[in-house]
Amino acid sequence: MHVEKVHFIAKRDRRDIFNFPLLGFLFKNRYMLMFYRLLTLFLLFYAIIYGLIKPNKENIFTTALFWSLFWPFFMVITLPTLGNVFCMVCPHGFVGKYITKFGLKLRPPRWIANPYIGLIFSNITAYWFVLYTFPNFLRSPLNTALFFLFFTLLSFAFFFLFRGMAYCKYVCPIGSVNSAFSRTSFTWLSTYQEECKECKKPECALACPYELNPSKFDHKNSMFNCTLCMECAHVCDAVKFEIRKWGSSLYKEIKNPKLIEVMVYLLLVAVITFTMRFHHGLSRSGLSEYMPWVILGKYIQNAFGLPKWVDMTGFVAMLMALVLVFSTVYVSFKLVEKISRKGFKENLLILGCAFAPLMIVGGLSHALEFFFIDYYHHIVNGFSQAFGLGVSVEPLARRGEAWLNVFKVFPFIAGLWSLHILWHRVKLLTDKNRLLVFMAASALPIIYLLVSVFQIWVMMNFPPSHHHH
Ligand code: SF4
Ligand code: SF4
Ligand code: SF4
Repeated sequence: MHVEKVHFIAKRDRRDIFNFPLLGFLFKNRYMLMFYRLLTLFLLFYAIIYGLIKPNKENIFTTALFWSLFWPFFMVITLPTLGNVFCMVCPHGFVGKYITKFGLKLRPPRWIANPYIGLIFSNITAYWFVLYTFPNFLRSPLNTALFFLFFTLLSFAFFFLFRGMAYCKYVCPIGSVNSAFSRTSFTWLSTYQEECKECKKPECALACPYELNPSKFDHKNSMFNCTLCMECAHVCDAVKFEIRKWGSSLYKEIKNPKLIEVMVYLLLVAVITFTMRFHHGLSRSGLSEYMPWVILGKYIQNAFGLPKWVDMTGFVAMLMALVLVFSTVYVSFKLVEKISRKGFKENLLILGCAFAPLMIVGGLSHALEFFFIDYYHHIVNGFSQAFGLGVSVEPLARRGEAWLNVFKVFPFIAGLWSLHILWHRVKLLTDKNRLLVFMAASALPIIYLLVSVFQIWVMMNFPPSHHHH
C-alpha cells in the first residue's frame, strides 16, 4: 500500500522516545501536554491569588509551590536528566504562544534582544542578590506572589508586543539557564535527516513559535532556546526526541558556540554553588568568625549601621564567590591562551561548556538533601492547606542525620565529570600540548572540588555551634 503522508516514519529509531507507546504519549500527545500546562497554569494563578489573600506566614502553600517544588526541586532534578521539561510545562510559555498569535508581532529592538537581560537582571539581581542580601524578603508569601505576578504580567506584555517568544529568549530569568543546563541531560530533540534532505518545505521550522529549525539541531549541536514545546513534532513525523548518552552534546563540536551558555555555567556556579558553600555552609560552621565574607560583611554592616533585614555577609559572600570564579577562569584561560596560541575567547567558547555539570549536577546534593529535611513536608503540608486535604506530615529527616551524607557525592560526580568533558574538549581545540592545556583549563573544577572537600572537613572538625541555625 502506498503511504500518502510524505514524512511518515515507518521505522523509528530504537532510542527515539516517540517510538515507545507510553513515553510517546507522555511527551508528545497534545492532550497530555495540554493537561500538564493547564495544571501548572492553574497552580501558578492559585498560588499567586492565595499569596495575595493570605499574605502572612501562616500561608505555607505559596512559598512551598515556588521555592520548594518548582525551582529547587523540579528544575534541578529534570534539567540534568530529561532536559528542558521545565519550559515544556511552563505556564508563561503556554499562554504566551496564544498571546503572540493575536499580538503585535513586533521585531524586538536591539537592546531587548539580549539574553543577558534575563540572566543578569531577572535571575541574578532580582532573585539571587535579593535572596542573599534581604534573606527574609522572598520568604514572605505576599512578596513571593508579587514576584511571580510581576514576571507573569511582564511576560504577557512581551508576548503581546514581540514576535518569536522574545520574553523566553531574552527576559525570562531561567530561559537561557534552562537551555544551557539541558545539555547535561540524556535527551535530545532532532529529526530524521534522510527525510529532511528531501524536504522542500520545512513545516517543522514554520511551526516553531521560537523561530528555530529543529532539523538543524544536530548539525549545529545546539538546541538553544528550544523549550520542548513539541509544536514541530505535531506537524512532522520526522521530528524525534532521543535518549542519548548523558551530556553527549558536551563532547562534540558546537557550531557558532554562544558565550551566554558559558556565562550561565560560570555565573551560576559562582552565585549558587560557591556562594551557598560560603554563606550557607561555612558561615554556619564553628569557623564562621574566620571566614573573610563574615569579617568584611559584619564590618560593613556595623560601619554603615545597616538594619537587621539587610545581610551584608550574604552580599559579600556572593561578591567574593563571583571574584573567585571569574579570577580563576581569567588566570587559567590566560595560561591556556599562552599554551594553545588561540584567542582567549575562542578557548573559552570551546572549553567553557565543560563547566556545565558543576552547578546543576552538584546542585542535586542540595535538592535531594533538602527534599528530605525541608521540601517534602513543606510541599505536602502546603498543598494540604491550599486544597483542604487535612494531611499533615513531618520532615522525612532532620538536618545533620548521617545518612543524608550520601548526597554529598554529587559535587564530586560533577567535578570529575567536568574534568572528563574538558579532557575531551581540549582535543577539539588543539592536537599539541593536550595535557598542558587541560591542566591550565582545569583550575575551576579543581577549585570547586577542593572547596567541596574543605567544607566537609570543616563541618566534621568544627561542627556548627548550637546558637547558629
Ligand atoms: S523560557 Fe521562561 S517563560 Fe519561556 S517557557 Fe521557559 S521558563 Fe517559561
Ligand atoms: S522535520 Fe522539518 S525539515 Fe525534516 S522532514 Fe519534517 S518538516 Fe521537513
Ligand atoms: S524546535 Fe520544536 S520543540 Fe523546540 S521550541 Fe521549536 S517547536 Fe518547540
